[in-house]
Amino acid sequence: MLDLSYEPPAPKVIQGAREDWELVIGLEVHAQVASKAKLFSGASTLFGAEPNSNVAFVDAGMPGMLPVINEGCVALAVKTGLGLNAAINLRSAFDRKNYFYPDLPQGYQISQLYHPIVGEGEVLVDMAPGVARRVRIERIHLEQDAGKSIHDMDPTMSFVDLNRTGVALMEIVSRPDIRGPEEAAAYVGKLRQILRYLGTCDGNMQNGNLRADVNVSVCRPGDYEKYQETQDFSHLGTRCEIKNMNSMRFIQAAIEVEARRQIAIIEDGGAVVQETRLFDPDRGETRSMRSKEEAHDYRYFPDPDLLPLEIEQAWVDEIRATLPELPDEKRARFVTEYGMTEYDASVLTAEVENASYFEAVAAEAGDGKMAANWVINELFGRLKKDDRGIAESPVDPAQLAAIVRLIKSDAISGKTAKDVFEIVYTEGGNPETIVEERGLKQVTDTGAIEDAVDRIIADNPAQVEKAQSNPKLAGWFVGQVMKATGGTANPKAVNEIVATKLGL
Ligand code: ADP
Ligand code: MG
Repeated sequence: MLDLSYEPPAPKVIQGAREDWELVIGLEVHAQVASKAKLFSGASTLFGAEPNSNVAFVDAGMPGMLPVINEGCVALAVKTGLGLNAAINLRSAFDRKNYFYPDLPQGYQISQLYHPIVGEGEVLVDMAPGVARRVRIERIHLEQDAGKSIHDMDPTMSFVDLNRTGVALMEIVSRPDIRGPEEAAAYVGKLRQILRYLGTCDGNMQNGNLRADVNVSVCRPGDYEKYQETQDFSHLGTRCEIKNMNSMRFIQAAIEVEARRQIAIIEDGGAVVQETRLFDPDRGETRSMRSKEEAHDYRYFPDPDLLPLEIEQAWVDEIRATLPELPDEKRARFVTEYGMTEYDASVLTAEVENASYFEAVAAEAGDGKMAANWVINELFGRLKKDDRGIAESPVDPAQLAAIVRLIKSDAISGKTAKDVFEIVYTEGGNPETIVEERGLKQVTDTGAIEDAVDRIIADNPAQVEKAQSNPKLAGWFVGQVMKATGGTANPKAVNEIVATKLGL
């Protein structure tokens, strides 16, 4: 099980600063809901479609069009909340967040400020095998995504693509419980893993389906503890928000440089100004985008086109009944059920497809430990070489299980098994048949081995003499027997027979 009593790693102290500083980080993650239709229209959410081909009148902000809530999106948000151990609010409501942007034709974004659908939850962030830090979730609300302005297609004109306008997002807001760049990346990684297990967001960061606004502040050692005791934010430093990060590497880099920037300002006697900043990965710096806006700047008000969203506990319970086994539970079960290390368990449960593949091999092979070993070392290694995922594996669980069974029954040696694996991987086929047809079966028939040993001893009297005075040289005979049998002789049997025949 996860050890939460463990002392969290010491907060990262910033190198190069004159005094000691600690980092405080809170993330707002925008996760696109894995729905085929948008939040308030029936338009498709398909990625990569012809620009402006997935736009309903309501998405384009046509006068008189009314939003209609997509029940499927609500169900996925509830499922996400349940997966994060969070409170589900049976009554939530939608607000208009007003601002002008060419990619927002309505002139407002429909969001949930005052009454989000999901309340407090948590994510256990893995810091080392079997060791986790608890990051509290403050809330999750449902909101619409905006479209995309395109400025680099023409020297004099800008374009807009509204395909993304109105797509459902879950904004998952953490408490400022994250203490360093690595933890921030690990948090996003764990959240992504849980969402993918749940099937509520595909987690594709490259396509922007999972992106994070990263809030960073710095404080003196001891101040964070005071915040934790009192939940009083005045113990923390002023934060800046770095917008729209969609790479783990950039999240870490941005936190580093932003922390250094803030420390330099404070150490020079200045004060950090709360604002929204952008990370420029090429220059390795953050720069100001706009000063921090407050709720009143957006003139938030309840959307008059939408009734408050009321859901029933029975429906929530129905959704709860569909929750899959989540990563932490699965990993703990793998450790106890198959006797594997925490490390192997976390490798096998990183993606749910990998875990299912492994379990199919283990069941058919009747040996979890060997199955884990073969899946992790041989299969994953080989797939990685070809840059393939488990879904594109040319070897299916039944074939891999057959190879494991052939080793277990001593029909083939571990070394031959690797050759058989390569044949199955590149040519396909049934491992048992391949072993039969290509004569790869391990010879455990001692009669056949004895014949080979006798022959080699008779042909090499000089080697016999040498080996008898120096038993280490018996290895030469073993090598000859293996060669003579095409590597199919059982090495243990060969060793014993050679030793006996040489009188060692
Ligand atoms: P807003 O809605 O104005 O962006 P919130 O209170 O919702 O403000 O906070 C947004 C995010 O900022 C949350 O993830 C929260 O954890 C984080 N946060 C708040 N205070 C700090 C701080 N001092 N340092 C780092 N992160 C912070
Ligand atoms: Mg915010």
